[in-house]
Amino acid sequence: MSDRLPRTIIVAGAGIAGLTAALAFAARGFQVEVFERVARFEEIGAGIQLSPNATRILGRLGVLDALGADAVAPEAIVLRDGASLGELARVPLGKPAEARWKAPYLVAHRADLHRALLACISSEPNIRLSLGAAVSDIAFEPGGVTAIVKRNDRTEEAAGMLLVAADGVWSSLRRLVKGSRESRPTGRMAWRSLADVASPAGKALAKFAPADRVTAFLDPALHLVVYPLRGGAMLNLVALTAGDAGTGSWANRADPLPLARALSGFAAPLSGLADAAGPWTVWPIHAVDPEGAWTDRRGLVLIGDAAHAMTPFAAQGAAMAIEDAYVLAMLVAERPDDPGSALARHEAIRRPRIRRVVRRGAFNHFTWHASGPVALARNLVLAARPAERLAADFDWLYGWQAES
Ligand SMILES: Cc1cc2nc3c(=O)[nH]c(=O)nc-3n(C[C@H](O)[C@H](O)[C@H](O)COP(=O)(O)OP(=O)(O)OC[C@H]3O[C@@H](n4cnc5c(N)ncnc54)[C@H](O)[C@@H]3O)c2cc1C
Repeated sequence: MSDRLPRTIIVAGAGIAGLTAALAFAARGFQVEVFERVARFEEIGAGIQLSPNATRILGRLGVLDALGADAVAPEAIVLRDGASLGELARVPLGKPAEARWKAPYLVAHRADLHRALLACISSEPNIRLSLGAAVSDIAFEPGGVTAIVKRNDRTEEAAGMLLVAADGVWSSLRRLVKGSRESRPTGRMAWRSLADVASPAGKALAKFAPADRVTAFLDPALHLVVYPLRGGAMLNLVALTAGDAGTGSWANRADPLPLARALSGFAAPLSGLADAAGPWTVWPIHAVDPEGAWTDRRGLVLIGDAAHAMTPFAAQGAAMAIEDAYVLAMLVAERPDDPGSALARHEAIRRPRIRRVVRRGAFNHFTWHASGPVALARNLVLAARPAERLAADFDWLYGWQAES
């Protein structure tokens, strides 16, 4: 048994990965200390698609109940060609998805998901969350670790058996894991806006991207994803284009001109969406090579974007963070006397899955932005594939179970 506060886990970062890890560890009887760098949370960020592999875990941890009606269960994912706006494919979601993958496919505002996670944390006596407290270093000691925490101008120490670094794509704790990989710009950026369904932009979208589904418009210059938020009263718009959005903050307001240019290949009324919707905020897409090391067996593990940030083409970054958190807690609970071997198993189990999801994202990127004969072939293949086969293609991803 690790003797340095044997059942205490230290978590750095109160994003989706860190909060899910705190809940998963607390559910298995651990004490959890969460340190978050920012002093208060702001309502920023885009919507988020929560596929069944993620909602299955969130349901077990009580987060879906806390999320409640803030989440929407879309009826389908529909792919459309940007130039013609014609439908290319449709994967049924809603009840058939829940029956197939044994958990719902949901979409929500990221801030609503965060609030739901925080509500669960606040009713869990074994979790303590400190804001305005950044973990800056770690000391490995016999039987555990000491995290060095900077709060205002003071330096504190927190002892536990394990430090879970869930500090996001620009992780500073990653440097403490030998063999880890830095995050790199991908040369792509995300544009994001919200539109009231009754606004001019909402009305322009009503025919081709109504508020009961996830719609992805494909085009060589960009892809645009539209889905409902907040009970269907709002639409979340995310467009991915080439370009560099500078620093990573969803508060970055952007001149919509480059987006308007990228949308010029779309048919009306969507070609005018850059001006009809807005304001637009932008986010640079960075990724972390999933082949880097994620653990130091003496008691440090990177999870979520800190370990393997990925492009959003498979809409799985947060889902993988949620899976990481749950699997890690399960494995450490199985071997609390030997966290080093639990970390080794975690890395061995998670890497093949992360690799496969990253490959799926790269495939989506290639096909969704295809032009000419490749786009033609894509459209023919999609048209020939019945909805049942399209859904079956996602069984390995959405049907995943932590225990298997
Ligand atoms: C445009 C876009 C669309 C996306 N859509 C989806 C989607 O539909 N579905 C999906 O599953 N994923 C999606 N993703 C990916 C998803 O947003 C991320 O993978 C996920 O938010 C990562 O969560 P995280 O907790 O690892 O990191 P973060 O959310 O970045 O959290 C890290 C936290 O750590 C804190 N922190 C940093 N340093 C320290 C420190 N030293 N000490 C203490 N705290 C610290 C930060 O302040 C922050 O709160 C999308 C991403 C983008 C860019």
